[in-house]
Amino acid sequence: MDKDPNPVNQGRHASECKICAHELRQEIERDFINWRSPASIAKQYKLKNRASVYRHPHALGRFPKRQRNVRAALERILERASDVQVNAAAVVSAVGPTRESMRLVSGWSGPSISI
Ligand SMILES: [Zn+2]
Repeated sequence: MDKDPNPVNQGRHASECKICAHELRQEIERDFINWRSPASIAKQYKLKNRASVYRHPHALGRFPKRQRNVRAALERILERASDVQVNAAAVVSAVGPTRESMRLVSGWSGPSISI
Protein backbone atom coordinates (compact mmCIF):
# COMPACT_ATOMS: atom_id res chain seq x y z
CA MET A 1 0.00 0.00 0.00
CA ASP A 2 1.32 3.47 -0.82
CA LYS A 3 2.31 5.72 2.01
CA ASP A 4 0.31 8.90 2.40
CA PRO A 5 2.62 11.76 1.36
CA ASN A 6 0.87 13.99 3.90
CA PRO A 7 0.37 11.88 7.01
CA VAL A 8 -1.95 13.32 9.62
CA ASN A 9 -0.59 14.07 13.06
CA GLN A 10 -2.87 11.76 15.08
CA GLY A 11 -2.38 13.54 18.39
CA ARG A 12 -3.17 16.90 16.91
CA HIS A 13 -6.15 15.51 15.05
CA ALA A 14 -7.61 13.90 18.18
CA SER A 15 -7.24 17.10 20.17
CA GLU A 16 -9.15 19.11 17.56
CA CYS A 17 -11.63 16.55 16.26
CA LYS A 18 -15.23 16.69 17.47
CA ILE A 19 -15.88 13.13 16.30
CA CYS A 20 -12.93 11.64 18.22
CA ALA A 21 -14.36 13.12 21.42
CA HIS A 22 -18.01 12.51 20.49
CA GLU A 23 -19.95 10.18 22.76
CA LEU A 24 -21.55 8.60 19.66
CA ARG A 25 -18.26 8.22 17.77
CA GLN A 26 -18.90 4.57 16.87
CA GLU A 27 -22.32 5.38 15.43
CA ILE A 28 -20.89 8.25 13.41
CA GLU A 29 -18.13 6.02 12.03
CA ARG A 30 -20.64 3.28 11.23
CA ASP A 31 -22.91 5.70 9.39
CA PHE A 32 -19.95 7.01 7.40
CA ILE A 33 -18.79 3.54 6.42
CA ASN A 34 -22.37 2.72 5.42
CA TRP A 35 -22.40 5.66 3.02
CA ARG A 36 -24.87 7.77 4.85
CA SER A 37 -24.86 11.31 3.54
CA PRO A 38 -22.17 13.37 5.34
CA ALA A 39 -24.59 16.31 5.40
CA SER A 40 -27.17 14.27 7.30
CA ILE A 41 -24.49 12.83 9.61
CA ALA A 42 -23.38 16.37 10.41
CA LYS A 43 -26.96 17.39 11.08
CA GLN A 44 -27.89 14.40 13.27
CA TYR A 45 -24.76 14.46 15.43
CA LYS A 46 -24.60 18.25 15.56
CA LEU A 47 -21.25 18.50 13.82
CA LYS A 48 -20.15 21.73 12.23
CA ASN A 49 -20.40 20.70 8.59
CA ARG A 50 -19.66 18.00 6.02
CA ALA A 51 -15.96 18.86 6.07
CA SER A 52 -15.73 17.91 9.73
CA VAL A 53 -17.43 14.59 8.91
CA TYR A 54 -14.76 13.89 6.27
CA ARG A 55 -11.78 15.06 8.34
CA HIS A 56 -12.07 12.29 10.93
CA PRO A 57 -12.12 9.26 8.60
CA HIS A 58 -9.40 10.85 6.51
CA ALA A 59 -7.16 11.17 9.57
CA LEU A 60 -7.89 7.61 10.64
CA GLY A 61 -7.58 6.10 7.19
CA ARG A 62 -11.21 4.94 7.00
CA PHE A 63 -11.83 5.83 3.37
CA PRO A 64 -10.61 2.48 1.96
CA LYS A 65 -12.99 0.67 4.31
CA ARG A 66 -15.86 2.82 3.10
CA GLN A 67 -14.93 2.26 -0.52
CA ARG A 68 -14.92 -1.50 0.04
CA ASN A 69 -18.40 -1.10 1.47
CA VAL A 70 -19.82 0.46 -1.68
CA ARG A 71 -22.30 -2.41 -1.65
CA ALA A 72 -24.15 -0.67 1.20
CA ALA A 73 -24.68 2.37 -0.99
CA LEU A 74 -25.82 0.25 -3.91
CA GLU A 75 -28.26 -1.64 -1.69
CA ARG A 76 -29.84 1.63 -0.61
CA ILE A 77 -30.23 2.61 -4.25
CA LEU A 78 -31.72 -0.75 -5.20
CA GLU A 79 -34.16 -0.64 -2.30
CA ARG A 80 -35.47 2.64 -3.69
CA ALA A 81 -35.56 1.39 -7.25
CA SER A 82 -39.06 -0.03 -6.95
CA ASP A 83 -40.40 3.26 -5.60
CA VAL A 84 -38.67 5.82 -7.73
CA GLN A 85 -36.92 6.01 -11.04
CA VAL A 86 -33.23 5.50 -10.45
CA ASN A 87 -31.05 7.92 -12.27
CA ALA A 88 -27.82 9.74 -11.54
CA ALA A 89 -29.64 12.27 -9.37
CA ALA A 90 -31.20 9.48 -7.31
CA VAL A 91 -27.78 7.92 -6.77
CA VAL A 92 -26.40 11.20 -5.50
CA SER A 93 -29.48 11.66 -3.36
CA ALA A 94 -29.08 8.18 -1.84
CA VAL A 95 -25.43 8.39 -0.93
CA GLY A 96 -24.93 12.14 -0.75
CA PRO A 97 -23.10 14.50 -3.06
CA THR A 98 -19.74 13.00 -2.26
CA ARG A 99 -16.73 12.63 -4.46
CA GLU A 100 -17.35 8.89 -4.41
CA SER A 101 -20.93 9.17 -5.57
CA MET A 102 -19.92 11.55 -8.31
CA ARG A 103 -17.36 9.00 -9.41
CA LEU A 104 -20.00 6.30 -9.19
CA VAL A 105 -22.36 8.11 -11.54
CA SER A 106 -19.77 9.73 -13.77
CA GLY A 107 -20.08 8.41 -17.24
CA TRP A 108 -23.67 7.40 -16.59
CA SER A 109 -25.07 8.51 -19.90
CA GLY A 110 -27.73 5.89 -20.39
CA PRO A 111 -31.40 6.29 -19.66
CA SER A 112 -32.70 6.12 -16.15
CA ILE A 113 -33.32 2.64 -14.82
CA SER A 114 -36.66 1.48 -13.58
CA ILE A 115 -37.49 -1.94 -12.25
ZN1 LIG B 1 -11.28 12.32 14.76
